Amino acid sequence: MKYDHLKNQDEQVFAIVEREEQRQNEEIELIASENYVTPAVLEAMATVLTNKYSEGYPGHRYYGGNYIIDDIENLAIERVKKLFDAEHVNVQPLSGSPANAAVYMAFLNPGDKVLGLKLDHGGHLSHGHSVNFSGRLYNFVQYGVNPETGIIDMDEVREIALREKPKMIVAGFSAYSREIDWQKFKDIADEIGAYTFADIAHIAGLIAGKQLKNPVPIFDVVSTTTHKTLRGPRGAIIMCKEKYAKQVNSAVFPGMQGGPHDHITAAKAVAFGEALKPEFIEYAAQIIKNAKTMAAEFLNLGYRIVSGGTDNHLMVVDLSSKGLAGKEAEIAWEKIGISVSRSTIPNDPNPPMNPSGVRLGTPAITTRGMKEAEMKLIVSLMDKALMNKDDEIKLAELKEEIKKMCAQFPIPTK
Ligand SMILES: *Cc1c(COP(=O)(O)O)cnc(C)c1O
Repeated sequence: MKYDHLKNQDEQVFAIVEREEQRQNEEIELIASENYVTPAVLEAMATVLTNKYSEGYPGHRYYGGNYIIDDIENLAIERVKKLFDAEHVNVQPLSGSPANAAVYMAFLNPGDKVLGLKLDHGGHLSHGHSVNFSGRLYNFVQYGVNPETGIIDMDEVREIALREKPKMIVAGFSAYSREIDWQKFKDIADEIGAYTFADIAHIAGLIAGKQLKNPVPIFDVVSTTTHKTLRGPRGAIIMCKEKYAKQVNSAVFPGMQGGPHDHITAAKAVAFGEALKPEFIEYAAQIIKNAKTMAAEFLNLGYRIVSGGTDNHLMVVDLSSKGLAGKEAEIAWEKIGISVSRSTIPNDPNPPMNPSGVRLGTPAITTRGMKEAEMKLIVSLMDKALMNKDDEIKLAELKEEIKKMCAQFPIPTK
């Protein structure tokens, strides 16, 4: 019964949606930043709330007719406060990068110095990369991971912080598989009077699910996307101490954005409601069990993993340990119906377009209900694909095996 109007009115768009739904059902998603939302989240996005303009904040809007919309925004805010123990919440950011732009705008002036993790060590573009607005507007200096252990060396962070005296320290990463010592970052920042900014885009769901430490009570300001482990619609939120509420709100609107996307706010509220339930704790715990199982299987087969394993939902597999590059693996795995993202390894000898590693994550396959047994099967099929990467017949057989397994774990749809 779903998509009836779309099907009748616009065959072309409907056909593309149908094909993509089939692809998602038949293939394995190991991209660490992706997930499948629940039918309730999907439905909330497809509501008439999309028709409204609501520039401003609840009780203070620049448009009339917002007395109902105020309720959805307030509900989303109250749920985030409970979920992360936050003092102040802004649920309007359209995505992770604009949220980070608003955070910088709220606390910094162009040219100010910021300390963040190097992109090729697991940082994010919006943490000071030269091609990104962040690297062009602000003066980023960078810390790295220890090349031997793959782990952030907090003594080095302190040394750089004391030498460079940045106005802000950024922690929270896109491809780092270890637990982060938030308190240590805060202690270092306090020594030099720097602001602390945590970007928990990747791990927010694991924090909400009580599996990882929460920086929100410790840090000045925290941003997160809502569509990764948190399993909501595409978007972001910013949480901060009450004393920064006004400057953060003004940076989001009118600083960075115009009107919020109210249908997405509704879907965010639904996702936060789901994350507050006890089942979400089980979900978060299973994500990590699955990731640890996957990492152990790769190690057994002789692959190197950056930092030697994982504490969270992701791992970076170094394919040079098998004489391969990230791109070759990505292509071989795509042929059998497994999506991954290429990733640099710390101090990668290869160029960013063809780095030595791939980043794998378990949030999406865990949502489908896959557990340890499926992880073992997936890794063994991935290994076989690499060992037979030029044998199209063998790869087609492996693709069939993946398809068969996926049929037992349908993705959630309306
Ligand atoms: C994904 C991610 C972002 C950006 O999110 P978008 O919604 O893609 O803009 C920002 N920071 C980190 C650490 C991320 O992993």
